[in-house]
Amino acid sequence: MVKAFFLLLLLRILILTRLERANPAHPISYRDVWRRDAVAGLVFAAAVFPAAMFVDNHLPLRPPVPDSLMSLPLLARFAIYLVVADFGHYWVHRLLHTAPFWRAHKWHHYPTYMYWLAGDRGSIIQQILVNVPYIFAGVLLDVGPWWIALVLATKNTLQNDWMHLNVPWGNRWSEWFIVTPRYHHIHHSDDPQHYKGNLAALFTLWDRLFGTYVDPDSVPRELKFGIGEQPTAIRLVIGV
Ligand SMILES: [Zn+2]
Ligand SMILES: [Zn+2]
Repeated sequence: MVKAFFLLLLLRILILTRLERANPAHPISYRDVWRRDAVAGLVFAAAVFPAAMFVDNHLPLRPPVPDSLMSLPLLARFAIYLVVADFGHYWVHRLLHTAPFWRAHKWHHYPTYMYWLAGDRGSIIQQILVNVPYIFAGVLLDVGPWWIALVLATKNTLQNDWMHLNVPWGNRWSEWFIVTPRYHHIHHSDDPQHYKGNLAALFTLWDRLFGTYVDPDSVPRELKFGIGEQPTAIRLVIGV
């Protein structure tokens, strides 16, 4: 698993940085930010995520699933997993943008720039909450091959990279289905009109159904990012 992590990291650095350099959506100096983001990513992967999983594993989050569902082919169960987990992720994200929970989400919105590694931040409290729908729906994948955990970890990492990727990709057609980079960049805008919109993580349907859709074509491409304040690092990481 550790080897796979570093191999994936190397591929992300080589491929994603090249894609961004070829067609950046927003100006960025990698030289100025990469050390900070490498530390943030390391803190997240080595401390925040394991701590959040430790807490979640002690909570009763695994519902009983009828045999009729568990006997479906793996692909069908995976499709249901994606929809259920993503629906839950949308509502957790929406909760994180309410006044009592915003402090738990500040670290994710803290960077004043945008690129694939900038999104690798989430406080311990945020991650405990975000994990909930994935663990809940993950019961559907309990009966499956050994490599399913690797697939899920890779999918979650690449999905997060994709949302924050510093490219202008996206159009109305694709955004009827999935979140594109330009779609999620709007969510990171420091304009109060935007940061409570486009909350979806994978399927844009939830934004459209529940009134948080912001049409990327209606938003100027030049965006500013960040939260406009400087909490201490420890508060950002814990989420208090
Ligand atoms: Zn957010
Ligand atoms: Zn984000």
